[in-house]
Amino acid sequence: MAFITKTFYSQSDLVSHLKAHQPSFYFSSKTSTVIPYDKIETLLPWSNGDFFLCDLSKLPPKMELKSNGNLVLSGGVSWEDAKNFLKANGRNLKTSPTEQLALITAGVATSCTGERCFGFGNMRSQVVRLKYLDYNGVEKELLKDQEFASSSGHLKNYQQDFNFYKNFKNAPYPRFEKSIDLMIGTEGQLGIVSEVEIETVENYDVNYVFMLLPRWEENYEPHMEIFKAVQPHRDAIISCELLDSNCMNYLKPDEKLGQDQDVIFLEIKSSHFEDIYANVLCNFQHISADEVFEIAENKFHHVRAGVPRAIFEENSKMGVVKVGTDCQVCVDKFTDLLNFYRKAAQIGVRYCLFGHFGDAHLHYNYMPSKDQTQKCLDMFQDLYNQVYEWKGSPFAEHGIGLIKQKYIKKYHGEHQLGLFKDLKKEHDPHKQFFPQGFMSV
Ligand SMILES: Cc1cc2nc3c(=O)[nH]c(=O)nc-3n(C[C@H](O)[C@H](O)[C@H](O)COP(=O)(O)OP(=O)(O)OC[C@H]3O[C@@H](n4cnc5c(N)ncnc54)[C@H](O)[C@@H]3O)c2cc1C
Repeated sequence: MAFITKTFYSQSDLVSHLKAHQPSFYFSSKTSTVIPYDKIETLLPWSNGDFFLCDLSKLPPKMELKSNGNLVLSGGVSWEDAKNFLKANGRNLKTSPTEQLALITAGVATSCTGERCFGFGNMRSQVVRLKYLDYNGVEKELLKDQEFASSSGHLKNYQQDFNFYKNFKNAPYPRFEKSIDLMIGTEGQLGIVSEVEIETVENYDVNYVFMLLPRWEENYEPHMEIFKAVQPHRDAIISCELLDSNCMNYLKPDEKLGQDQDVIFLEIKSSHFEDIYANVLCNFQHISADEVFEIAENKFHHVRAGVPRAIFEENSKMGVVKVGTDCQVCVDKFTDLLNFYRKAAQIGVRYCLFGHFGDAHLHYNYMPSKDQTQKCLDMFQDLYNQVYEWKGSPFAEHGIGLIKQKYIKKYHGEHQLGLFKDLKKEHDPHKQFFPQGFMSV
């Protein structure tokens, strides 16, 4: 048995590989936090002959802006590439994942979201059309306005179960409502995304502001005041992000904001800025107008992305598989989630909290030494049990991959497992697409 890495430089090479029906894991920029790439050969169980690790990142990138403003792309196009291309044409992306080096085709596979989800909704809702390569290497097209088709007897019940989660960024299982959903959030287990058409927006001028707050561990009243105040303004406020005081330790001294304080950032359309400033930012009871500052767009992105990247790198250096959360809860459970994180902060392991605050979707990260890892995992097991009781979504944007499979099991019942099995049989009869993924186990 051997792991063999293959890099594809053209779609025809990829098609030849698919036609051979070899068991494979296909990857793009390798930024997934749920696939431990530095240990993949030990954590991707396989004992059945050769297994292929297939690099899609070198496929020729192609972008085209249609006259209706939609972006059509294929190959190795990252979020950063697309943003630069669009900005040069007076447009911008509606989705802005913190890790801009990830590929957009992979973002479809992981049903990625990001900061601008607050204003524009999830990426899934912006995909108009896509193409994928099936198990014979045949390219097929799926449209947003076609219903999801499957002969599985589980589909109807599955869709009814999903209904409860329809307002979450991502539910504990993929949507399977429209035909495009076959490729969205299925993590490359049913085919390879080869082309995507997504909606874009006019490149509005935006203002970034940040507010300095007390540490959430001691007092989250001001945070919750902001959370409630921004909800009715999603047409004007595009993103609402948190970095807590502990995150600042991951920044260079001249990049740090505040003095041992938490920071909430807002991205606001300039056309609405004065209105939001006068009617929201100046009206807080718990935050003085002196604690509200403007920040340049590039500094915001640098600081916001710098923290998760540094944590990711530190955990890798320590030889620890990422110990972080990705839970989204309903508005009325948000303080319960914060209270849980307060409890989690008491176990004597370094931590920090950041993320998509306006959507009640935060990443709590431990930075354990190897011998502290188990107690962190035990705490997260308690959290996932709680999130299940709260009917929240345990993995709202980073997906399941390999390292979250253990925790998602509780959320998948007869209808989910039944449909996964039928779809795998129909779309992956030779078990060539990520056979260790959550749809097979
Ligand atoms: C610092 C940091 C910040 C992040 N912030 C965000 C965020 O804000 N929002 C968010 O959603 N995620 C975020 N992520 C997670 C990650 O960037 C996303 O999951 C991203 O979509 C992965 O893209 P990638 O190109 O790196 O894919 P990879 O890691 O290479 O692959 C991810 C998964 O997609 C599958 N896949 C890849 N390409 C294809 C394809 N063409 N067809 C079918 N399947 C495919 C793979 O099999 C794998 O299961 C962050 C990660 C980091 C490290």
